[in-house]
Amino acid sequence: MKEEIHIQSLKEAHPELDMLIRMEEMLWLNLRLEAFQKAITSAPLSKENVEAAEERLQRFAPYIAKAFPETKTSNGLIESPLVSIPAMKHSLERLSGQQIPGELLLKCDSHLPISGSIKARGGIYEVLKHAEQLAIQNGLLTEQDDYSVLDEERFRAFFSNYSIAVGSTGNLGLSIGIMSAKLGFHVTVHMSADAKVWKKELLRSKKVTVVEYESDYSEAVEKGRLQAEKDPACYFIDDENSHDLFLGYAVAASRLKKQLDALNTPVDEQHPLFVYLPCGVGGGPGGVAFGLKLLFGDHVHCFFAEPTHSPCMLLGLMTGLHDRISVQEIGIDNLTAADGLAVGRPSGFVGKTIEPFLSGVYTVSDERLFELLKELADTEDLYLEPSALAGMYGPVHLVKAGRGYLLKHQLTEKMSNGTHIVWGTGGSMVPHDVMNAYYKQGASQTRG
Ligand SMILES: *Cc1c(COP(=O)(O)O)cnc(C)c1O
Repeated sequence: MKEEIHIQSLKEAHPELDMLIRMEEMLWLNLRLEAFQKAITSAPLSKENVEAAEERLQRFAPYIAKAFPETKTSNGLIESPLVSIPAMKHSLERLSGQQIPGELLLKCDSHLPISGSIKARGGIYEVLKHAEQLAIQNGLLTEQDDYSVLDEERFRAFFSNYSIAVGSTGNLGLSIGIMSAKLGFHVTVHMSADAKVWKKELLRSKKVTVVEYESDYSEAVEKGRLQAEKDPACYFIDDENSHDLFLGYAVAASRLKKQLDALNTPVDEQHPLFVYLPCGVGGGPGGVAFGLKLLFGDHVHCFFAEPTHSPCMLLGLMTGLHDRISVQEIGIDNLTAADGLAVGRPSGFVGKTIEPFLSGVYTVSDERLFELLKELADTEDLYLEPSALAGMYGPVHLVKAGRGYLLKHQLTEKMSNGTHIVWGTGGSMVPHDVMNAYYKQGASQTRG
């Protein structure tokens, strides 16, 4: 952040930067992608770490089932459906004029219980881990116990001696806020200017303290961090650097594998899997992609999706500067209706970790997000928030601009046996009137 950014020399080194600065939709392919077996040797996290997170969520399942009755049917696991969306695939082909070989599936994290977004994975996991640690350290719990006891008043009284804080554009605040408040913690959410009013109101209704800022996400995080540091009983959830958040997201992969098995959808040498993940600061898509690579290795191809106005991860990866550069420094405003993705500076930890595993990053315009939102509602009767539609244009970008990638990895012939998974990251908690307005915006701009 101290070093000076020389845009001219960056442009010379990276000719694609011009297109990014012009805020045109683009696909960037990652030349630092490595074969999985090589990439994993230098990763800061391992399969064992992800499995430990999975076991921890299993320990908490009896508590979750009790505290959130909507998770009873899944035995206390916070999981979402994986569904086929053939009608939407036709729409994409019609809108883009491109044939999309392979099957199109939607992972409905939009419908995750408790907080209705992908943040119900990482955010909730980190709160649970912190609560477990406190309870064990104080002799109130052992790993062998039935964790449903955590729903008792004595635990709420115990956790009320502690507080949790987080900076958020909205959805992380919802997850952390709802989970922490349920356990009995005092919780403060530092919200950036783009956070939606309904998210703040919902949190306040659950006795969460919401602090609002005029500035963007990075500053809300910074202010939250500083305030939390003053209080030794306060635990700050650090969206930019947290390994725990990342691992909570990564657990999604083994759950997805079971769902693919149930659909008789193979992933192997002859059946490639392409996954498209909306990216903000990077933890959510990074964790999920990392988990998927651990399970499927070179047979899964992960792409991040960002708004043309907030392509922070693309910029960090392309230049190799990671969190040492922000989109504002190259003249991009970081203003987007995709509030979950309105991040100007990426996580350095995620960028460096995911670099050898990630196939590429692409951008989509806000207009496109609304168009796809309306289209998905019309074709499949599924309602997602604008951020969550960023993944939907991935298959189009790949067939349109990714020929080089497909050739290089000998995928061209295998595409028709392949599967595309669009990660639908949020939306089921959006109030009706707000969703209606999104839909109308999509409808008003629909071309001929
Ligand atoms: C937070 C969020 C993302 C991206 O997650 P990051 O960890 O910020 O990269 C994507 N979609 C939605 C709806 C989100 O709320």
